Amino acid sequence: MLKINEHYQALPGNYLFAEIARRTAEYGAANPEKELIKLGIGDVTLPLSPAVIAAMHSAVDEMADAATFMGYGPYEGYAFLREAIVRHDYAPVGAAIAADEIFVSDGAKSDCGNIGDIISADSTVAVCDPVYPVYVDANAMSGRAGDWDGRRWTNIVYLPCNEANGFMPELPVRVPDLIYLCFPNNPTGAAATREQLKIWVDYANRNASVILYDSAYRAYITEPGIPRSIYEIDGAEECAIEFCSFSKTAGFTGTRCGYTVIPKALRRGGESLNDMWMRRQSTKFNGVSYIVQRGAEAVFTEQGLRETRALIAYYMNNARVIRDGLKAAGLTVYGGINAPYVWIKTPGGLPSWDFFDKLLRTANVVTTPGAGFGPEGEGFIRLTGFGDAERTGEAVSRVAGVL
Ligand code: PLP
Repeated sequence: MLKINEHYQALPGNYLFAEIARRTAEYGAANPEKELIKLGIGDVTLPLSPAVIAAMHSAVDEMADAATFMGYGPYEGYAFLREAIVRHDYAPVGAAIAADEIFVSDGAKSDCGNIGDIISADSTVAVCDPVYPVYVDANAMSGRAGDWDGRRWTNIVYLPCNEANGFMPELPVRVPDLIYLCFPNNPTGAAATREQLKIWVDYANRNASVILYDSAYRAYITEPGIPRSIYEIDGAEECAIEFCSFSKTAGFTGTRCGYTVIPKALRRGGESLNDMWMRRQSTKFNGVSYIVQRGAEAVFTEQGLRETRALIAYYMNNARVIRDGLKAAGLTVYGGINAPYVWIKTPGGLPSWDFFDKLLRTANVVTTPGAGFGPEGEGFIRLTGFGDAERTGEAVSRVAGVL
């Protein structure tokens, strides 16, 4: 008889956003007259930019003609896109990343989880707390997390990120093999400086650990001097893998395109992780559609860059409205400056799911409870700047009104 992967049975409850959707749907069904404003899940709302749309239309036309039709593409992505990524995302920040160190994928979520395929099942994993839940759950599914004790996984090394340390993790005593870092951070909105990242790069190189650096929000950095890539830090090419995505940079959440960087210099156990990932991708992945890769390439054209900057400015203005409005209403708020997320302390130490329910029922605003991102997220909620500007303003007024 088939034996299932028993690690799935150890997973607690629903995936966070599925639980939010369930509670929201339940409330909506019971109160159909209420108009809900959803600022919970970090999903974009503006359409793709005209430059991207034009490139995708033209790629569709190529697919319609036998002379230009494209079948399976390269597993690692078309050279035109990988070279554009090097020219626009790495060369300008002084990071010596080459096109053959880039793997185009259907987004950062899959790669953040799937990277575990090339890592031993008994590796120790460290994550920031609070954290994007995918890192933890994906490792729990592979049996690296240990047992769920009702609050934490016994084998995960949690790196607390709280008000006391400015939401910046400190080096752990127990040395992990893998260290997930995400800056600008989801959910806290914190961004790491060069000096802060250098500490982690030196630590990883000293201990032969590998940093899994998620820079999905790199395009949202507004403060000067904040690194957009871990490869801006000396030594990172020997200890870090970077995940990036067009989802938040250019509104590709539904279009699906991202990329993972694995430098050739990154070797562990005598093996090149770049070679191993290529082996993995060529076995389990058949690439991102030609049409989508042409759309992603257009993000880097002059027009694409201009239009993309406008999308980001729109979302960051929403983040500012949330931040300023809720601060004025007396709440303690963080983030919203280098990331589209605002991390809000619940009033009076209210548990975060209770504050979520309160705002759902009284203000009809959907948020994300901080506890869903890890134990240190308790006592916070997250709001996103990805909504419609007018409705975001309305949501802030409603929340301020019920406080
Ligand atoms: N990484 C972080 C930190 C995210 O917040 C998200 C999405 O919200 C992702 C990765 C997923 O990105 P993608 O849409 O490229 O899968």
